[in-house]
Amino acid sequence: MKQLRVAEKAALQVIQEAIRVLAVWTNSKLKEKLSRLIAAGDNDDVIKKAVAQAQKLLSWNSKGEPKALRLLFDSINLEKDKEKKSQNQHQHYCQPDVIAERNPKIPYPLEKEPSLEDFIKLKYEIKQELDKLDDDRDRDLNNLSLLTLILEKYGSFISFGDSDVALIDIARSTAGVAAALANNPESNNLTLIAGDLSGIQKFIYTISSDGALKSLRARSFYLELVTEEVVQQLLEALELPRTNVIYAGGGNLYILAPAIESVKINVAEVRQQFNEWLLGEFQGKNFLALDCLDFPITDITTEKFADYWSELTSKKLAVHKSRKFAENISKFLQESDSYEPCKVCHRDDVESAELKQLNKNEPDSVLACETCCRMFELGGQLLKVEVIVRSQSENFEDKFDTLTFELPATDKRDAKNVYYHLFHRWKQIVPDNDTALLVNDWNIEHYKFSQFKKSFPLLLGNYAQESSEEKGLIIRANEMAKKAKGVNRLGYLRMDVDNLGRIFAEGLGENKTLPRIAGLSRQMSYFFKVYLNSLAEFRQENFLNKNKLIADILHKKAEFLTPKKRDNLLFIYAGGDDLFVSGTWNEVVEFAFDIYQCFRAYTGNNPDITLSGGISINDIKFPLYKAAEESGEAEEKAKGNGKDSLSLFSQVFKWNEWLGIEDNKIIDSEIQKYLHSETRPKLLGILPFVERLEQQDIGVNYSRNFVRNLLITAEIQEKALEKFEDNKKSEEALGTRYYLHLPKIAYTLARLPKNVLDDTEFRTSLKSPYNAPYFRAIATWIELLNR
Ligand SMILES: [Zn+2]
Repeated sequence: MKQLRVAEKAALQVIQEAIRVLAVWTNSKLKEKLSRLIAAGDNDDVIKKAVAQAQKLLSWNSKGEPKALRLLFDSINLEKDKEKKSQNQHQHYCQPDVIAERNPKIPYPLEKEPSLEDFIKLKYEIKQELDKLDDDRDRDLNNLSLLTLILEKYGSFISFGDSDVALIDIARSTAGVAAALANNPESNNLTLIAGDLSGIQKFIYTISSDGALKSLRARSFYLELVTEEVVQQLLEALELPRTNVIYAGGGNLYILAPAIESVKINVAEVRQQFNEWLLGEFQGKNFLALDCLDFPITDITTEKFADYWSELTSKKLAVHKSRKFAENISKFLQESDSYEPCKVCHRDDVESAELKQLNKNEPDSVLACETCCRMFELGGQLLKVEVIVRSQSENFEDKFDTLTFELPATDKRDAKNVYYHLFHRWKQIVPDNDTALLVNDWNIEHYKFSQFKKSFPLLLGNYAQESSEEKGLIIRANEMAKKAKGVNRLGYLRMDVDNLGRIFAEGLGENKTLPRIAGLSRQMSYFFKVYLNSLAEFRQENFLNKNKLIADILHKKAEFLTPKKRDNLLFIYAGGDDLFVSGTWNEVVEFAFDIYQCFRAYTGNNPDITLSGGISINDIKFPLYKAAEESGEAEEKAKGNGKDSLSLFSQVFKWNEWLGIEDNKIIDSEIQKYLHSETRPKLLGILPFVERLEQQDIGVNYSRNFVRNLLITAEIQEKALEKFEDNKKSEEALGTRYYLHLPKIAYTLARLPKNVLDDTEFRTSLKSPYNAPYFRAIATWIELLNR
């Protein structure tokens, strides 16, 4: 246990230093007390030396002051051409702010440096919070997880040292290095541990059954806890504090550790034990790739750090993935009888008599294995989980459910049962050895609760609309379908960040240091885990009210079809850099456009940080695994369209074509040359037309005719175009694509009601050859809205 004390104490001292920086800056009465505490602290030379060395390595200056934080995303540049590279330079700042207790608002960047006044409110709030910490026995001031959380809450939007490094990222990096050094003082090396729980997608998406939405959601929650448990096992085995976790979530983890032999051994043992368990539990569908890499300690502040990061992720972990379960080969090869498969997950190693009815309330419900039945049950109840207690003991009062991990004994590690107890209310009595994970909770008071010895936040992208038919439960699929506008269908959206690997490996150029890589992964995953929940539930505050601000950052109006609430959504998975969301089809479509614009604004309109997405729209009877497959294929098509695109209604276009084009650069230059004689129409793209027609409210009959004619026009063009498939740029092909529609469109327009015809902008724009490629998308959208 001595080592744990040493590593944790070193980390604590660094974090206390960082809190002291805030105390001095805000003139909190805590500053003298902290100085005394740090000075009187540990006289252990090892700790003092480790802290001093870590601070020196990371250029930590205790006399420095927090300053304005430059937006880290501005530093991302994937352009290789030097001249173009310099054109891609941006300059944004972060608004000095606090992360709110619940559903924090999306922090959009500022276009100019914040003024002194901007800091006054933040300083005041920090002082208030710090002054409250001054308790009699210094309990709070020695509580590492509490202090770290305070730094994260108040120090995410101010810099310390380098102008694009947030205080929390430099503090946590320094603490991590100090803790590793305290365990291994003489070494010139550190170790980076990386893990990847693969098969998450496969596992989630191949499921097929009624009530699958709930089961899916529960499964993604379950796998998030598996990732957490891997982290916990590693920290325990390596005797490291939580501050050494650079990132964990969505099946990925990164931990900083000392470069000692026992780390490698422990990493291998933890890996083996988990894979043994995964093999038994999920028939090999999930696999944990886990490995580590030593590197010279001085490289944490050089660009080489990102190389180690990439080497570990893309090379070493890839090797493990290519020979799955090699270490568990005897168990892997064990013959097992096969039976009637579970109808949900298709495992076939469970005896038929063990399969149970998935939904006990439905007499003809399908038969499923125990895990799947558990997931189905749990899924309905996951609406409100405030705290999760990780415990060694099975029994716990007031819990509403428990997830159990029965890790089997291996050659090197004992069998171990770990229980995750779920509670609807955060305030629980927790034994000393247990850990409280507070879900999406930034309320500092909760972490001071005397019953929590160890507590930290668990961030989950988990928004779900509540059912209006069954209070306290998650909205059901048929209920959602009923709430849809027009056709009663559900939408499924899958979306992720383009070029994520390159962004991490190359994006930061010469500045690929530990604090920046840590900051980048934190801010990227915050969007998907934290701000996406807020955007789903509070559209007004995060998008509609911020319209002008977003427009300024994007140099383009922020577009939306309707200014209504669109909260009939159910997140199946959101975290890391991707998401899978279901909901009423029209709200999913609007949500996708909101996400894209908010994300681009959040990342400072950086042309190298974009999203691609795919939406499938299906009847509720359509099997979920097929819907997931369809939306996945749609997403692939969007990637295939040069990324930064959306595939919807089986049509793929750049996001800006969907949203309406304001900048001509988006149109192919050859096509522009071809259309040079045409004036650019006022309305260009897809959404502007749908919006106009929705506003005009033309009625079912008119819209039916309009849609039919527009679709016929699109079809004639597409058929004719097929003939020129080989050479789309030929004059004839272009003529077909852009002019063939004219007679038909004139006919279509003549049959619209007078108020639409009086709208000159609409009329002339629709006739413009520029809009010819969008007819099918416009028609399909209007059709679904009015069916
Ligand atoms: Zn199953």
